[in-house]
Amino acid sequence: MNGLVQRLAVLSGLRDRDALDTELVRLVLHGANFDLSRATLFRIVGEGDERRCLSLAAATAGQEIPTRDLLWSDWSLLPRLSDSPLRTSAMHKGRAVQTEGPSEGGLHTVVLPMVGTQGLEVMLEVTASHSLQPAQVDLLQSLLLAYQNLLGLLDYGERDSLTELLNRKTFDGAFFKATSDQRNAVSGEFSERRETASGGVGVFLAVLDIDHFKRVNDNYGHLIGDEVLLLVARLMRDNFRFHDQLYRFGGEEFVILMRCDSAQYAESALERLRERVQAYKFPQAGTITVSIGVSSLMPNDTPSSAFGRADKAVYFAKGNGRNQVCNYHTLVAEGKLAEQVVDEMDVDLF
Ligand code: GH3
Ligand code: MG
Ligand code: MG
Repeated sequence: MNGLVQRLAVLSGLRDRDALDTELVRLVLHGANFDLSRATLFRIVGEGDERRCLSLAAATAGQEIPTRDLLWSDWSLLPRLSDSPLRTSAMHKGRAVQTEGPSEGGLHTVVLPMVGTQGLEVMLEVTASHSLQPAQVDLLQSLLLAYQNLLGLLDYGERDSLTELLNRKTFDGAFFKATSDQRNAVSGEFSERRETASGGVGVFLAVLDIDHFKRVNDNYGHLIGDEVLLLVARLMRDNFRFHDQLYRFGGEEFVILMRCDSAQYAESALERLRERVQAYKFPQAGTITVSIGVSSLMPNDTPSSAFGRADKAVYFAKGNGRNQVCNYHTLVAEGKLAEQVVDEMDVDLF
């Protein structure tokens, strides 16, 4: 019991999502004293029949440090949700389910779902050489709830209250995490996993600015303006994968930090968003368009240098008809923009 409380105290002090995932699995495995042989926290990614299980943290009994799938793993190689009747059943029932008897290997498995804000998306699976008592399953469910509440607290501090996108405050940390993950991947730290990934791990930063937004406010008032912001944010969420990070930087300016195999892929995802915004019929305001600038992250980039390049591309789009996606590097290559000189002293982060 002491170990459990101590580990809960550690869990509640964490402010990083990956660390929370890892600590929850350690807590379940080593703190609860249920003699479990394995614990896996995973997220359901993809849609319909293509739903797959991406491990957030997984460990066996003797393993102190859990492992996880990389966010940019090739999804087609992840296990399908439909291949596991138990996981599928937990998903449909929305509550914990346990195998009726031991598997061929003599193991019993319990899957506990967590109800997230966007539906059922995270589950905990534990295996043991014995079946779990209802009280033990209840305790695991409570631990999952504590983890969910802690995630909610992080969300509260990190999200914009109107759109629920991430706020600017969290951007620098995410930026440095993305670039250091990228460096590790390139230097081969994750080489075993990398072979299964579908190519490079480029990180791209896009800035999106709504076109003529002042007119929306002037013609229809701030409330309708706010509704447009909310709807644009929703279109953004629907357009990108869950690991692409979406920010509202204030006003009607949004930032997207995305990991893609190539610039073409990043551009086509942004172009798809641009088309969807243009095609959407906004109540009252009607048709709204957006201008988007994108740049790939460079070695030694700071948040401000990367943002500055994407912002220059937006500025170019604004001056050249709006309602388009512009890539900073293409504009420079075509001689339409002068290359941004990186000032070595320019290390202030906004
Ligand atoms: P452009 O196409 O050049 O971007 O034109 P624009 O009118 O969108 O110009 P700009 O981006 O400079 O204008 C931003 C406007 O967004 C100014 C302000 O009226 C409005 N705005 C900023 N924050 C909010 C907000 O939180 N809610 C609402 N409703 N309006 C906001
Ligand atoms: Mg603006
Ligand atoms: Mg604008």
